[in-house]
Amino acid sequence: MTQKLILVLNCGSSSLKGAVLDNDSGDVLLSCLAEKLNLPDAFITFKFNGEKHKVDLSSQPNHTGAVEALMEEMKAHGLDSKIGAIGHRIVSGGELYSESILVDDEVMAGIEKCIPLAPLHNPAHLLGLRAAQSIFKDLPNVVVFDTAFHQTMPKHAYTYAVPQELYHKYGLRRYGAHGTSYRFVADETARFLGKDKKDLRMVICHLGNGASIAAVADGKCRDTSMGLTPLEGLVMGTRSGDIDPSVFSFLAENANMTIAQITDMLNKKSGLLGLSGLSNDCRTIEEEAAKGHEGAQLALDVFVYRLAKYIGSMAVAAGGLDALVFTGGIGENSELIRSKVLGYLGCLGLTEDHEANLAARFGNAGVITTADSKAVAVVIPTNEELMIAHDTARLSGL
Ligand code: ADP
Repeated sequence: MTQKLILVLNCGSSSLKGAVLDNDSGDVLLSCLAEKLNLPDAFITFKFNGEKHKVDLSSQPNHTGAVEALMEEMKAHGLDSKIGAIGHRIVSGGELYSESILVDDEVMAGIEKCIPLAPLHNPAHLLGLRAAQSIFKDLPNVVVFDTAFHQTMPKHAYTYAVPQELYHKYGLRRYGAHGTSYRFVADETARFLGKDKKDLRMVICHLGNGASIAAVADGKCRDTSMGLTPLEGLVMGTRSGDIDPSVFSFLAENANMTIAQITDMLNKKSGLLGLSGLSNDCRTIEEEAAKGHEGAQLALDVFVYRLAKYIGSMAVAAGGLDALVFTGGIGENSELIRSKVLGYLGCLGLTEDHEANLAARFGNAGVITTADSKAVAVVIPTNEELMIAHDTARLSGL
């Protein structure tokens, strides 16, 4: 175990996720989830040594109250004095940040400047940062941006074909997301395959509730499917992904819907949920599809086809394909989705190794294509918290 542990915080507008990690082993010693923040019945759940317990936050139902409760919990387990630094997940660093950075007043102002790009998330991150600064007074704070890895995208990949004054005036462009996961998985893939990442052209599919895909060559991001917001790209749990922007005027005129209603529908009622009419959860969709539910079957078909089509376009962005990588809850566990996607990729020279595909589950990495395939497909578990811990330790000099 290292002398110093890292506290990783991920603050949402009504939630706070925290984890105390050993930066060397990756072990999580203590984790917590605060929910219903800013409501009278806010609470926080701690998990230590496999045991969970809940603490009421009603006397201070906000981010500061949650961080104070976390401090008390750490004290109870003798962990408070062992923390060396705090790492924070930040959704948007816009064009200001292309890598993680040690927090000072200028960085706080920079995160504030990016609020228009993440209006729900960045204000919550600032609350978490301020709470951490006041409660863990002497510890350095490091911020790790979801967008940073994608800042190497070339201009032709991040630019929308709209009047360019909108980019110059409002920053309207593609930024991407899941960058911390891509960085971790790109490194792990190279390690797993025993190659230098500079020699690999990778297409990485991060498939969770939110899903996106990225082209990575020479260790750098060349393109990704999420755009100005996480709505663009793949079919997701509740998000539509790519859609003709004319749906706004079409639904306004024909269904009398407002911009807010259409935005809500595309973000929260579409994707696997909207297609199946059942659930946003891929496991449920798979189970019901197997029983013959037509909506669930359609949801799988649309999800897989969109993904396969995107893999083709990302192979172009990467300049070719050496490794196709699956990660995230669906990518790491669903042999069915992987198998269906590989079924489309014979044209790129990939053939599924069925037994290997079945074996790569529950946190197991593995190659899932046959030896004669022109590129390998691999399953590589992601670990965004550990990546945040690594950056935090490095930038804090631990
Ligand atoms: P988030 O984006 O919330 O972090 P996760 O990466 O945890 O999401 O992925 C959640 C998704 O993974 C859910 O749709 C869930 O159904 C899916 N998933 C988890 N295990 C399996 C499995 N064994 N088979 C199919 N899908 C799975």
